[in-house]
Amino acid sequence: MFKEEREEALFNWGMIGNIAEGRPNMGSTMDVTVYRLMQFTLRDVLIQEFDPAAADRLFYKAGELAGRELFKSVITQKTDFAAFIQELEDLLSALKIGILRVEQSDLEKMEFTLTVAEDLDCSGLPVSDETICTYDEGFISGLLLEFSGKPVIVKEVDCWCSGDRVCRFQVRPAA
Ligand SMILES: [Zn+2]
Repeated sequence: MFKEEREEALFNWGMIGNIAEGRPNMGSTMDVTVYRLMQFTLRDVLIQEFDPAAADRLFYKAGELAGRELFKSVITQKTDFAAFIQELEDLLSALKIGILRVEQSDLEKMEFTLTVAEDLDCSGLPVSDETICTYDEGFISGLLLEFSGKPVIVKEVDCWCSGDRVCRFQVRPAA
């Protein structure tokens, strides 16, 4: 699973395993601290080993893979945009990733503005003049790529860390 060399992603939803069987007492939830500990230490090491741009690129890419696989394996509303967004809002809330809202939406142009409140990655972090939700950027791009078949670029323009109460993401068509 994680020992083979690879040129293409091998991740599939089965790698997450049977949590009910494996954690009969612990269950499927854990503290946000643990998620952030994992994510921020990994990011710290990637910055040390490579550089901030490479760490961002890898986080975006991993988020994109997550979004694509979530769409393929979990999302059921795959054709109607409003139904897809409603399911996604419900899912992100149920998974406690955050509260998704669509502020602006133009499906023809593939231009959107989305917000996530109480975001798992950043809400409550010290304010630092940085937008940090690179994994989320990739995640949203992967979901929209799978829905539309069109590649998009997602940029976080407001973040808890840049002093805002919500994370705000702008989606534009890729080139
Ligand atoms: Zn953020």
